[in-house]
Amino acid sequence: MTRILVAGGLGFIGSHLVDRLLQRSDLDECLVVDNLWTGSEENLAHVQDSRVRILVGDIEQAPIVGKFDEIYHLASPASPPWYMTQPLRTISANVIGAMRLLGLLAPGGQVAYTSTSEVYGDPLVSPQPESYRGSVDCTGPRAAYDESKRCVEAMLFEAHRVMGVRIKVVRLFNVFGPRTRADDGRAVSNFVTQALRGLPLTVYGDGSQSRSWGYIDDIVEGLARYFWRDGCDYPGPLNVGNDREISVLEVAKYIQKRFPERPIVHLPPAPQDPTNRRPDLTINRRMIPGWDCAVCYEEGVDRTIDWFRAELAKQPAPLLAPAPVLAPLDIVTPAALVPAAAEKPLAPVSAAIAGGAEAPSGAQLDL
Ligand code: UDP
Repeated sequence: MTRILVAGGLGFIGSHLVDRLLQRSDLDECLVVDNLWTGSEENLAHVQDSRVRILVGDIEQAPIVGKFDEIYHLASPASPPWYMTQPLRTISANVIGAMRLLGLLAPGGQVAYTSTSEVYGDPLVSPQPESYRGSVDCTGPRAAYDESKRCVEAMLFEAHRVMGVRIKVVRLFNVFGPRTRADDGRAVSNFVTQALRGLPLTVYGDGSQSRSWGYIDDIVEGLARYFWRDGCDYPGPLNVGNDREISVLEVAKYIQKRFPERPIVHLPPAPQDPTNRRPDLTINRRMIPGWDCAVCYEEGVDRTIDWFRAELAKQPAPLLAPAPVLAPLDIVTPAALVPAAAEKPLAPVSAAIAGGAEAPSGAQLDL
């Protein structure tokens, strides 16, 4: 009897993971726990499977009975405007949620956690290997998310080291695609919904900051292989993402090509917005050989546009994302628009890890 619990299973990534889990013939029961903060019942409305039960409530205290053989912890907002609006709740969902979930694990069971490339902060090495310890401000505006993800990593690795708990920790890089909320506020979904609603595309700062955009189907395929399908027992952390790095402005311009009448407007930069992000996939290639992001971002964006077009047609009133936290206008000078870290070449990985690279000199501009 295999019992599985998915915390955050009505969310964007969580619901795709549940779809994959339901393809397993060895699965007897799948309990989805979600408080609908950023998730939606709509995301699993298509599921007609008697093995699934949905419990709406906070993972920290929902009335959950019994122990589980596999636990997947995805109960957290991942969009900056959402987690910045409720930072303490974000910390609680991740950290107290993980503590609770550890207590629900059956002896010999496995707990898996979707951590994030945010643990690398504003990275001073590129690409980022899992051994890179990151450049994170624990009192900054992204800290509730970054540090709670780091804390749960610490919790799980200690549970593994001290108590032998079987764990799997992945670090995800900017996942996008269908089932993102229309009011999510992250770059791809924001640009697409803005374009579909006839609004300008809002680029924060000059748009030279880059990310590695992973299409949901590819990412979930990587998760399924690592978490259960390949029989891998590596605890992680494991980078899972697309290693093609693209600037935010380039993404906006690609979407603008599909909607030529929409202008791109530049708003103040988001505070402490990381300048770059790209996964080093060396360990990933060893653990899940042959896995790759097969869907390029252009194709992924096209599919996302099609999906949002159909979704928005169903919605009577447009939902707006929480207002993004942006730098005050009076510090937006041309110099502030060019992040200081981008002016100097990134240190080679080995040098930066060995030398403990320091924060970029202009970092105070972001405060
Ligand atoms: N971004 C933007 N306009 C938007 C939303 C996001 O320019 O409407 C930028 C954001 O400042 C960041 C990048 O896009 O540099 C990715 O942001 P996202 O919120 O998708 O994820 P993050 O990597 O910051 O967690």
